[in-house]
Amino acid sequence: MDVTVVGSCNVDLISYVPHLPKPGETLQGSKFSMGYGGKGANQCVMASKLGASTAMISKVGKDTFGDGFIKNFQDLGVNTAQNSIVIVPGANLLLNSDDLSKAESFIQTSKVVVCQLEIDPVISLAALKVARQQGSVKTVFNPAPALPSLDKEFYMNCDVIVPNETEAEILTGLPVQTVEEADIAAKRLRELGCKNVIVTLGSNGCIVLEQSSDGIIHLPAPSVNAVDTTGAGDSFIGSLAYFMSKRPDLSLTECARRAIQIASVSVQYPGTQTSFPTQDKLPEQLF
Ligand code: ADP
Repeated sequence: MDVTVVGSCNVDLISYVPHLPKPGETLQGSKFSMGYGGKGANQCVMASKLGASTAMISKVGKDTFGDGFIKNFQDLGVNTAQNSIVIVPGANLLLNSDDLSKAESFIQTSKVVVCQLEIDPVISLAALKVARQQGSVKTVFNPAPALPSLDKEFYMNCDVIVPNETEAEILTGLPVQTVEEADIAAKRLRELGCKNVIVTLGSNGCIVLEQSSDGIIHLPAPSVNAVDTTGAGDSFIGSLAYFMSKRPDLSLTECARRAIQIASVSVQYPGTQTSFPTQDKLPEQLF
């Protein structure tokens, strides 16, 4: 595999309303839609849409949503051979170490492994460690949703940590509202043991602090008409994993520069996975 993701699958039920309902208020929505989501699944689908060979290690319920999810992965070319199916909601939290050992060969033979925190953090950390022991596998860690007291081992077992502004604030306890503040937070994350740090900054793009350098680079995002930024971070991370696996000749900064272009395309379309562009819709020179 080019990219293996160990993470979550969620079905998004989206209602468009004029404002959030107050307690006791019944509100009429103007539109309803359903979409396949979950940070893990989104990042995996993004890498797959760009042309990476991908595997998803996850757990889904044996119900309409779970069955639909597997079909969605298969339609998009994501390898699901190792999925376990259980008959409970909240299946994400049931992915356990036995499941992980069954799927270990995917991790060990991948070029890049991506983890988040929407599953049991113990399993995310175990997956990062399996990858790390292999030596040749690069690990990307997206600390989302962020935990204020994250086990330090996460920092030591990832090649690249990719928080957004809020996650960087929670992890470091520092404010991260501006590029300058993001720089300080990135240096703090490096002190905590991270080799390479990328902090995504929404319409401001991202900053990159590479292991080999003390200088922080700010990569601005193109100015676009953003209609739906849901999943922008997942689009960025899936694209980053794609470039890290397919273009080992590129620096991390260059991979991030290209991932920004792709995430900025995704925000111009509604939905999450449906807004992620396939390779043929993107400029050739990105690849
Ligand atoms: P998250 O979805 O995790 O909060 P961000 O909001 O930081 O992540 O967005 C990730 C990436 O998506 C950014 O680095 C940028 O490339 C792109 N992006 C997000 N919002 C916009 C926007 N309004 N205009 C252009 N690009 C955007």
